[in-house]
Amino acid sequence: MATGVNIDSAVELIINSKFAIAFTGAGISVESGIPPFRGKDGLWSKYDPNVLDLNNFFLNPIDSWKVIKEIFYDFFGAAKPNAAHFALSEMEKMGLIKAVITQNIDNLHTDAGSKEVYEFHGNSRMLVCPYCGHNYLTSEVNLNDIVPLCNQCHGVLKPDFIFFGESIPALAYQKSVEAAEKADLVIIIGSTGEVVPASMIPSVAKQNGAQIIEINPEKSLFTSTITDVFLQGKATEMMTQLINELKKSKI
Ligand code: NAD
Repeated sequence: MATGVNIDSAVELIINSKFAIAFTGAGISVESGIPPFRGKDGLWSKYDPNVLDLNNFFLNPIDSWKVIKEIFYDFFGAAKPNAAHFALSEMEKMGLIKAVITQNIDNLHTDAGSKEVYEFHGNSRMLVCPYCGHNYLTSEVNLNDIVPLCNQCHGVLKPDFIFFGESIPALAYQKSVEAAEKADLVIIIGSTGEVVPASMIPSVAKQNGAQIIEINPEKSLFTSTITDVFLQGKATEMMTQLINELKKSKI
């Protein structure tokens, strides 16, 4: 558990920072009801990870879309931001963080009101046609059709988040690296550090002299390598403590 001393150290680092950023993983959305992929209760204990294999998607679009719709739209789509997402959005309004770099595709940072959000793995809010490149808002497409089709070229639409083996979206990548190079503080929330190249973002900041605060109930690959202040606990508990202390110190 995080001690008062750790929370105090984290608050001091945040207040004294000039360009703090957050880096979030699946853990921040666990308390919104979305499990991570890995681990005992992770999504891959129930579903076949092959569903996010690009070749499989093109070879079996009907079967793929059935599972993709169930996981990423029916299930993820019903989730709401939690206290940790809202705390980050408040910190942005208070001028205490400049951007959120997220590996998540669930849109919950934007739903919570964060403005500067770089989605490293894309987002489920958009669908893209892999054949002609046309984009669609998911809300404009009937996902109850057997497969959603492009109304320009009739190709099967794909969610605009990355499948295994796909490149990181260029703009999100560029903005994330730029922010990491500028950052003097990174708050990592709910990430194992096992997913590359996303996991190199906090390390880029560290190499440029940034301090690292980490929030996670479990130790991660970051904890013993780059973390300076480890707040061991759930995202909502730790972020609520942090935002309350930050508000007091702003008075
Ligand atoms: P991950 O690297 O995202 O790790 C999940 C981490 O969350 C673990 O370290 C775990 O200890 C921590 N965690 C669990 N409960 C927590 C809580 N209440 N508060 C804070 N931290 C908590 O691992 P993954 O799930 O294998 O993800 C692989 C990739 O897929 C990542 O890019 C991830 O962001 C993405 N993904 C996204 C979503 C989403 O959009 N919500 C869901 C699953 C996976």
